Amino acid sequence: MADAKQQQRVRLFIFEQFLEHGVPPVLEEVMTAFSLSRADAEAVLIDLEAARHIALVKGTARILMAWPFSAVATPFRTTVRGRTYFANCAWDAIAFHAMLGDDIAVDSFCHHCGKPIQIEMSEGHATRVDPPETLVYFARPPTEWWEDITTTCGNTMVFFASPEHRDESDLAGADESNSLTPDQTYTLSVPSYGTKLALDYARPSKEVYLAHWAAMGLSTGFWKL
Ligand SMILES: [Zn+2]
Repeated sequence: MADAKQQQRVRLFIFEQFLEHGVPPVLEEVMTAFSLSRADAEAVLIDLEAARHIALVKGTARILMAWPFSAVATPFRTTVRGRTYFANCAWDAIAFHAMLGDDIAVDSFCHHCGKPIQIEMSEGHATRVDPPETLVYFARPPTEWWEDITTTCGNTMVFFASPEHRDESDLAGADESNSLTPDQTYTLSVPSYGTKLALDYARPSKEVYLAHWAAMGLSTGFWKL
């Protein structure tokens, strides 16, 4: 079991490497950077996954997700500080703005028809949304997100070019669902992404999430934890 301080430092290392290189560090780089044996480095990554800071490729010590970063190509690309990154989902694509504060440009697609979607965010607001009716759709309620976070991020948090395309999509029709604007999605991101690059970052508590969602007016049965 790695100590908490070391876990913090490895977590930050992963995010800094993703930010600098667009890809996560491999296990050998964690071993070298922290003078760890293979088994000890792997144990730290497993602890970080258990603490919901990262997701590993199943059955390996390879980093797949360190939200908002994705190690693999996705339909969600965010350009910021002159670099383009793959995000895990529509929410993550916008969350880069909350994590870094800088202006971002998102290039994605309508999950239904594949039409390009472009969003630009500055100072906490969308300055360009094309097509203008674009929405961020959460097909699964928060209570189910962590049942299989790779599926949740990879398949159920998407953009639609319009409410009509959402309703025609195979993701629509669930009893519990929700659609947010890009601005709402940015606001949603602030508690969980705003301090990601701090050494002592901690995931918000359930109470913090619920209070934040309620303040946003998200108090339907969907937004429960
Ligand atoms: Zn569409």
